[in-house]
Amino acid sequence: MANSKKGSRGKNKRESSAFNNVKNQLAYCGLWCGSCSVGNGTVNVLAGKCGKTLTDYGLKDWGPKEVDYDSLLEGLAVLSSMEPCKGCLKGGGNSECLARACAVEKGVSECCECKSEKTCKNAHYLDHMRKGAQRVGMKVKDRKGDRAAVLKGWISESGRA
Ligand code: SF4
Ligand code: SF4
Repeated sequence: MANSKKGSRGKNKRESSAFNNVKNQLAYCGLWCGSCSVGNGTVNVLAGKCGKTLTDYGLKDWGPKEVDYDSLLEGLAVLSSMEPCKGCLKGGGNSECLARACAVEKGVSECCECKSEKTCKNAHYLDHMRKGAQRVGMKVKDRKGDRAAVLKGWISESGRA
């Protein structure tokens, strides 16, 4: 029992450290890294919980035979211990990103604050990234506005501050 409490504290600490690392990061395209499950530690925690549950319940012995439990548990262990994405502002994310390269070249910190946004040659790409992020529940700042206030609101809404 004591061990399980210690384990859960360790996971919570890791999750909160991942969140703290990205909570103030808004990518050039407007994606909030604090809401990204790959960056904020959610994937690590879910993978760990899933692996532990499958092991504790001994699914390998009596679960569906179509599943390769050894490979599955191995994959979940990798995901559980992987380093959360640091976000593209710290060198993570897609190194081929068109928006990031363009924003860096133009010297803007957010595409929605870019003077060329209306004639943007990457508009389709930006739209694809933003809609995809919103579909999986991420927060996206896709209009002009007070960056600090927007982040403060999202951090408070997340309940993880
Ligand atoms: S790499 Fe590009 S698409 Fe991904 S978060 Fe950064 S700016 Fe957005
Ligand atoms: S031109 Fe488009 S991709 Fe480039 S910084 Fe402006 S809005 Fe972003």
